[in-house]
Amino acid sequence: REAVLEVENLQKYYPVKKGLLLQREIGRVRAVDQVSFCLYRGETLGVIGESGCGKTTLSRLIIGLEQPTGGEIRFLGQPAGRRMSAGLRQRMQMVFQDPYSSLDPRMSVRRILEEPLRIHTRMTAKEKRQKILPLLEQVGLPEEALKKYPHEFSGGQRQRIGIARALVTGPDLLLCDEPVSALDVSIQAQVLNLFRQLQRRYALTCLFVSHDMSVIRHVSDRVLVMYLGQVMETADKKTLFEAPAHPYTKALMQAVPVPDPTRPAVGAVLEGEIPSPIHAPEGCPFSTRCPHAQERCRAQRPPLYDLGGGHAAACHLYAEEAVR
Ligand code: SF4
Repeated sequence: REAVLEVENLQKYYPVKKGLLLQREIGRVRAVDQVSFCLYRGETLGVIGESGCGKTTLSRLIIGLEQPTGGEIRFLGQPAGRRMSAGLRQRMQMVFQDPYSSLDPRMSVRRILEEPLRIHTRMTAKEKRQKILPLLEQVGLPEEALKKYPHEFSGGQRQRIGIARALVTGPDLLLCDEPVSALDVSIQAQVLNLFRQLQRRYALTCLFVSHDMSVIRHVSDRVLVMYLGQVMETADKKTLFEAPAHPYTKALMQAVPVPDPTRPAVGAVLEGEIPSPIHAPEGCPFSTRCPHAQERCRAQRPPLYDLGGGHAAACHLYAEEAVR
């Protein structure tokens, strides 16, 4: 399998400063802390976690909007992030969270879709049109949409335009940062179904960031669970949803509403607030909320224990059964 994106020991720390002129450093926020993973061609890796878990910082580091404090990002075998060449950058596209602000209101849909082709290719007007029209149809918009402006569309339609813009150059990697969270629930399902169709049609390689377990379940092949900047668990989707190992993953799943009223009430397990990232726990980051926390958990950060078959969990409970 070809590795499209390789992330190794990635770190992003922000100093927290105080005092007059903010000269005194009183701590550090570890927004992304020793995160490693590999994304292979044709698969979608879902990154899940509550707000503040570092998933958005992670995608900003990959696309080069932020500079990492440490670690490596390689895209198509070359250094990525801020050091990316313009040619390489073009092969990575992003679908943003907010379809209302991510499209330039002064540009017609035609110009929005032609812009990436104008910047990155030397296509003639006819070639651009040949590229755009089928894509427009695939995202479910009529040809007349080309003449219109973003304000003339609903949120769901704008996100369809955003997806078409991201796909128009045929990118090797698509970064999706909460692409449906700003939409109504009924529209979310339509956009996710569209995304599934496009995944199959174009064999997309995608990093899909979301706080919503049901969204992640819908779109991912593999899943990475993050908490306070760290990877808690990673597995293929089936294993993660049918046999989660990490207490945090289990708690996240129980917090997902279940429509069946005969099943027990849910949402009770994930108690307490996420600790302030400035004063993150010393050992396991989840130790302040975990029902299984012991002395060791508070003192020592658990490594990601390899449970076999691509499944790994950062929890001391698995120290014995891990595949070494
Ligand atoms: Fe809970 Fe300890 Fe495992 Fe952390 S290491 S998730 S505190 S049991």
